[in-house]
Amino acid sequence: YTGKTSNELLTHNIKKMKVSEHFSVPVVVNEHVNVYDAITTMFLEDVGTLFVVDEHSHLQGVLSRKDLLRASLGQQSLQEVPVHIIMTRMPMIKVCKKEDLLIDTANKLIENQIDALPVVQEKDEGLEVIGRVTKTNITRAFVELVKED
Ligand code: ADP
Repeated sequence: YTGKTSNELLTHNIKKMKVSEHFSVPVVVNEHVNVYDAITTMFLEDVGTLFVVDEHSHLQGVLSRKDLLRASLGQQSLQEVPVHIIMTRMPMIKVCKKEDLLIDTANKLIENQIDALPVVQEKDEGLEVIGRVTKTNITRAFVELVKED
């Protein structure tokens, strides 16, 4: 890349990074699962965001740590509240696709003040969740950028 400034090179390398090479396995729960079990899943799977799906594995909602904390402050028994009552639901969910540039997902996380995006594939009647991109994936990619040199 003779003639390119180091800044142009950096931009070029950043724009080479696609979601497909940087996403993680998604952790999903069914919409009828109760809040108590969702909290247990979040601890056992060691993630900060759960994606909520229906019987057809289509994306219905998102549960963050604070969504679950907020629900825990209520009076009701957590075993009696299904997660679909407290989740952030479609069509409010911000998503990304495997082909997307990682930098665009980073922008979505910042603009929407969220920690994670589901990686989805469009199906006839909904969105299938195939992965997740979190701030950790972005941080890891940022570190890799330097290691490559
Ligand atoms: P926390 O709530 O633990 O700080 P987030 O910042 O990720 O975690 O979530 C903030 C709010 O945004 C929560 O109510 C959550 O349900 C919602 N949220 C998280 N991820 C998404 C997403 N991809 N699309 C839309 N809303 C989201």
